[in-house]
Amino acid sequence: YEVKQAGRGGIASYGGDSRRTLARLSLTSKLRRALQRDDFVVHYQPIVAPATGELRAFEALVRWQDAERGLVGPDEFIPLAEDAGLIEAIGGWVLHAVCAQQRNWVDAGLASHVHVNVSPRQLRRPDFPGTVRAALAQHGIDPQALTLEITESAAMLDAERGNPVVLALHELGVRLAIDDFGAGHSSLARLRDVPVQTLKIDQSFLRGVPDDPQAAAMITAIVELSAALRMTTVAEGVTSEAQRRFLVEHDCPLAQGFHFARPLTATAATALLRER
Ligand code: C2E
Ligand code: MG
Ligand code: MG
Ligand code: MG
Repeated sequence: YEVKQAGRGGIASYGGDSRRTLARLSLTSKLRRALQRDDFVVHYQPIVAPATGELRAFEALVRWQDAERGLVGPDEFIPLAEDAGLIEAIGGWVLHAVCAQQRNWVDAGLASHVHVNVSPRQLRRPDFPGTVRAALAQHGIDPQALTLEITESAAMLDAERGNPVVLALHELGVRLAIDDFGAGHSSLARLRDVPVQTLKIDQSFLRGVPDDPQAAAMITAIVELSAALRMTTVAEGVTSEAQRRFLVEHDCPLAQGFHFARPLTATAATALLRER
């Protein structure tokens, strides 16, 4: 054991770490450059009524258009952006892109509700509600047309008062959703005190449907809980017809997943709105 420890503290390990640090540094500067050049794009994944497939909203999902790597998914750069202090800028970019898109849709008579993901870091900034208000105002978008998806932990930042930034967002009139619900430390009792209108059930639960009775029981419980608290529920990660049927049978009002539609380009999302 001691020999191993000595080995790990040696030159080889230092070299490995610094290589990784260098890789992160260059990725961070690439990300910064991407921001300056607007090298991001927003895709829109439909949120539907599982019984009919009817379109109810979109979730905006950011991608990085990198010259070398093509389209890079958010899991590959959002955590880095959070560490590097770039998430506020990227989040602001997404907010403006979504509001501009909504303006186009409203002008074309294609009203639509859009969900936008918000990082916990953004919810620690007292100026964030002002940023949201400004983006909405600049494009003339009704706050009611926007849902911000936040995490459980960010929503309940402060055990006493909740998160004041979340309360300010609620007062602004935007809707709030808890994303990936059930994946973190859920405090069902505290949910009452948070002004959210929507729970999005984490994909991991639906993966067990219909075979795993425990996963199915969790989904049923979350759907009933949110109905009792006058909230709505979105089941995330629907990939099969059997899962869709399960959701219909258990009165889950909304669903999202590859079974219905993948995230779409803005052009494809617009075409879908026209069909409606
Ligand atoms: P999320 O908010 O939970 O978004 C849902 C993710 O699940 C998306 O991945 C979506 O493409 C994927 N998905 C949807 N249906 C299915 C399905 O049926 N099967 C499977 N396997 N996956 C499905 P994506 O676009 O890669 O985004 C990953 C995460 O990145 C998001 O998870 C969200 O946490 C984060 N993210 C995306 N856009 C933004 C953003 O603008 N700001 C911030 N802060 N985070 C973002
Ligand atoms: Mg989300
Ligand atoms: Mg989610
Ligand atoms: Mg997620």
